Amino acid sequence: DITVQNPYRVHIGTRLLEGAGAVVRDAVPRARKAVIVTDSNVGPLYAHIVRDSLAEAGLEVAVHTFPAGEEHKTLATYGAILEFLAAEELDRSDVVIALGGGVTGDMAGFAAATYMRGIAYVQMPTTLLAMVDSSVGGKCAVDLSCGKNLAGAFWQPGAVVADVGCLGTLTPEQLADGCGEVVKHAVIADASLFELLEKTPLTFDLLTRDLSLAAAIIARNVEIKRDVVVIDERENGARKLLNFGHSIGHAIEACSGYTLGHGTCVAVGMVAMARGARAAGWDAPDFEEDTAERIDALCRAHGLSTACPYPADELVEAAMHDKKRRGTTIDLVIPHRIGAASIERCDLEQLRAIIELGVEAPA
Ligand code: NAD
Ligand code: ZN
Repeated sequence: DITVQNPYRVHIGTRLLEGAGAVVRDAVPRARKAVIVTDSNVGPLYAHIVRDSLAEAGLEVAVHTFPAGEEHKTLATYGAILEFLAAEELDRSDVVIALGGGVTGDMAGFAAATYMRGIAYVQMPTTLLAMVDSSVGGKCAVDLSCGKNLAGAFWQPGAVVADVGCLGTLTPEQLADGCGEVVKHAVIADASLFELLEKTPLTFDLLTRDLSLAAAIIARNVEIKRDVVVIDERENGARKLLNFGHSIGHAIEACSGYTLGHGTCVAVGMVAMARGARAAGWDAPDFEEDTAERIDALCRAHGLSTACPYPADELVEAAMHDKKRRGTTIDLVIPHRIGAASIERCDLEQLRAIIELGVEAPA
């Protein structure tokens, strides 16, 4: 259970999409109609299962499909979702279903947050990244032409339904990408999860065959995120811990024109931050010397390359445009040891030094 202003339940397990209708009924009892928002990859695979289950639960259902990909996480796609909700005459008691990865969840969530000043939605994440990260916590957004996630809202879902069986249709690269956020959660909050992953890296085979293990790992990640979000829903303090690896990670994503996966960029960002902060002289009483090396090794064991494909000066340039920057300072998350990190206010020169010292020049 996640207790924010309105508590919601996160269901994690197998064959959950088949029973999704009952969950939606329960979470949004007054709903008469549901609109499933999904993308062009996920819709053909799973929308019919959710549609049938919602219909069985007595809901009228319509499906809106948008073209898959981060490049479609735009105002235009978001606008088309809103127009669809209006054309279907959804009212304030109805419900939006976000069926897909983080792109779908972010856009359907933002549409739900703004349609008629906010209606209920239920997250049905289908990527590992969305299950462990983006579907919980209530952040939703679309990209603007000058930056990612620049228009958005905090809008908590009525429930989350993570059917781990969906992981089986991802590519190994897409699955590995989601492991970046798993490693992040372990670094900032859970040394024993980190050690478990060191012993048993989450390979594609493991996560798609041992679904109970997949469910347990996802559940632990959701707990870690919940524990941060419940004390700081709107990211004024502790929630910033979840941005570990993201200042540099976002810069890498921007340099790649958003062609590199989010988790992959976060992996490079985590290693660069851990290594660079140490090299820049940052210290703490509980600091452990091998922290950066262990993060690096664990990312690579999960198929995530930690070599930065761009030179440091390009990253510095991109990082200066980070929307989380406040004037000449930025809050960076610095790991002390595995399982503990802190938020440090740094000036841009310090960020520059960390990037220059932490990023290995491309070969
Ligand atoms: P995504 O939604 O684009 O999914 C990746 C690809 O996998 C897409 O092509 C999609 O169509 C496909 N796909 C999804 N599920 C599938 C399945 N089960 N089988 C086959 N194909 C499937 O991207 P993502 O990696 O899930 O999420 C990245 C997005 O999430 C970014 O836009 C990022 O900003 C956002 N994000 C948001 C938060 C948050 O808190 N709101 C947190 C982290 C990331
Ligand atoms: Zn992230």
